[in-house]
Amino acid sequence: MDLMYKSTRNAEEKVTASQAILKGLAGEGGLFVPEAIPALELEIDALAGMSYQEIAYEVMSRFLTDFTEEELKSCIEKAYDSKFDTREIAPLVKAGDAWFLELFHGSTIAFKDMALSILPHLLITAAKKNRVTNEIVILTATSGDTGKAALAGFADVPGTKIIVFYPKHGVSPIQERQMVTQKGDNVFVVGINGNFDQAQSGVKKMFSDAGLAEAMDAAGYQFSSANSINIGRLVPQIVYYVYAYAKLYAKGEIQKGEPVNVVVPTGNFGNILAAFYAKNMGLPIAKLICASNENKVLYDFFATGTYDKNRAFILTSSPSMDILISSNLERLIYRIAGDDAAKNAAFMKALSTEGSYTVTPEMKAQLADFYGNYATEAETAQQIKALYEKTGYVLDTHTAVAAAVYAKYREETKDTSVKTIIASTASPFKFTRSVMDAIDKETYNVLTDFELADELSKIAKIPVPQAIEEIRSAQVLHDTVCGPDEMEDTVKRFLKIG
Ligand SMILES: *Cc1c(COP(=O)(O)O)cnc(C)c1O
Repeated sequence: MDLMYKSTRNAEEKVTASQAILKGLAGEGGLFVPEAIPALELEIDALAGMSYQEIAYEVMSRFLTDFTEEELKSCIEKAYDSKFDTREIAPLVKAGDAWFLELFHGSTIAFKDMALSILPHLLITAAKKNRVTNEIVILTATSGDTGKAALAGFADVPGTKIIVFYPKHGVSPIQERQMVTQKGDNVFVVGINGNFDQAQSGVKKMFSDAGLAEAMDAAGYQFSSANSINIGRLVPQIVYYVYAYAKLYAKGEIQKGEPVNVVVPTGNFGNILAAFYAKNMGLPIAKLICASNENKVLYDFFATGTYDKNRAFILTSSPSMDILISSNLERLIYRIAGDDAAKNAAFMKALSTEGSYTVTPEMKAQLADFYGNYATEAETAQQIKALYEKTGYVLDTHTAVAAAVYAKYREETKDTSVKTIIASTASPFKFTRSVMDAIDKETYNVLTDFELADELSKIAKIPVPQAIEEIRSAQVLHDTVCGPDEMEDTVKRFLKIG
């Protein structure tokens, strides 16, 4: 029996894993969720001896049941190869009070590579399985890191095109440069004069536009999504939590069954949702610590039960977390609503019409596994400086938000004995200016971004990553800019339809 996927907004819609990956988004704006979270049921001693790829197969095969063993193993091998600069794929590094799970060793030096290096392979396999003949058009809104990772994953993949929208003034200079220099005949990069939420809303609107879908189909195209709402992104993200736990056990740091805490710097709620799914598979996770930056909509939600996006959007030094609508939270809301699509749909309707909703006390009571908090810009910078001065280890701004929140958690709860894994979501080289400013603004603020990368390399004693070397001299290939309401026209122009 295949594990089926249901829509969070319509109890009638049910598809296989490969169909869910192909579609990206369910009808009426719903998200696909597995009917039940499968159990891992694997001895930790067996897991402890496995490679990243082997654990990836064990975890993913339980979710993507309509993929054959051969298909899935082939996807995994193509994804987790020498694109990563370490054979460990996701190394675990102890610094200060926590273990940092470094998820930034892929080709674009941010954690999005963990899922986006496999998504194109899953998608092409899914298309073949479902006898899709249309060309797949990946439509993506990015707060900075998804865009480049998706472009790198899909560039020149036959049978696909990719269009990325990013907030023109809301990403770091390095992030922008990484995107606008992307090569490939099938890639389009567009800056929008708006913020990430506007980009994401525009993309969602195109996904649920039946007329546009018809015009696309007539021209031999269909949309799919590389955003973290696609279960083809969510499932590969579960893998590294299982891997990290197995590695801690293999190192003798934890006993069999010993619970660990997981801290995740959160934006769209995809990464932490993957940790929640890992826990539901049976991985001994104690607290899921949700770290926000000054856009602390999730902190307020966990504290009060009210999700309220009616507030100023703040541009911070952790731009990939500058989000007021955390799309993947919907999967958790659906779950705590008792897998009730109608109830969830009503909350989401309130979110889109009033900008807020409040869960019931019964629902809120089911969030006890989560702890939410946030770090200010000053606290984030302070965290980078303090950990560097104490240990020599340099955090990126996003990971520093998580580390600062973990420090607050320890202080507040006195839970200092449970071993803790912090998801380290980007290389400090991706956010060099903010990182170096945090360490010593006076010395470093006269340097250019690339000079800063060289300085960072010296002080952190790690080489400048290939991803940065590549863009030093690369040519700008994309300069299209449009307004949030011109996104559809821009897509049509690229695809030469309508
Ligand atoms: C995307 C991203 C995040 C947020 O992850 P979500 O899954 O959207 O919560 C955090 N840090 C970095 C560096 C990212 O690129």
